[in-house]
Amino acid sequence: MKYYIMFGPPGAGKGTHAVAIREKYNLCHLSTGELLRAEIAAGTQLGLEAKALIDKGCLVPDEVVEKMIASQFDSVKGVEGFLLDGFPRTLRQAEDLDQILAKRNAQVDGVISLMISDELVKERISHRAAIEGRADDASEETINNRIKTYHAQTEPLIEYYSKQGKYHEVVADAPSIEENRARVLALVETFAE
Ligand code: ADP
Repeated sequence: MKYYIMFGPPGAGKGTHAVAIREKYNLCHLSTGELLRAEIAAGTQLGLEAKALIDKGCLVPDEVVEKMIASQFDSVKGVEGFLLDGFPRTLRQAEDLDQILAKRNAQVDGVISLMISDELVKERISHRAAIEGRADDASEETINNRIKTYHAQTEPLIEYYSKQGKYHEVVADAPSIEENRARVLALVETFAE
């Protein structure tokens, strides 16, 4: 089994481009944000607690997302690997992921990083707010907090994976989705099997 990570700031296009990679390499696309939004929609206790944090632009606790991911690893069949989107997002999550995978005799096979500027993050998210209607996309304060959270807690993962030779970055700032997708797929071809 292969384990790939989609990495990048909010609004970089992780979910959008994950679809093309998933199809091409027969992977299961796992987005922790989507899994959390499904819990919110279902009105579970977990969803209720997560919503309060998500709407402020904060991260939900590491154990919560790690449990969701591990249970998907256990239950999903018929794929050649997983494409993680929005996970890991903290150093602790990255270290715990390494342990979860070690128990499965596996490892992270590559990190696909989509890079855009903070300015473009703001533009993309305000555009998305009108289309997808996500509460955490609608408030400027929440968006600013998510950008801060990204720099403080998630950006250190670049060094973590670079040291292991697993970090692959593409600048995903083209105006069209198609152009960005072409860049992403070309990057993935350089290391994925
Ligand atoms: P985006 O990439 O636009 O921020 P996501 O759907 O990946 O959107 O995440 C939405 C929110 O869900 C995050 O702002 C955070 O509150 C929560 N979340 C998603 N993934 C994680 C994670 N790995 N750890 C903690 N919180 C997460």
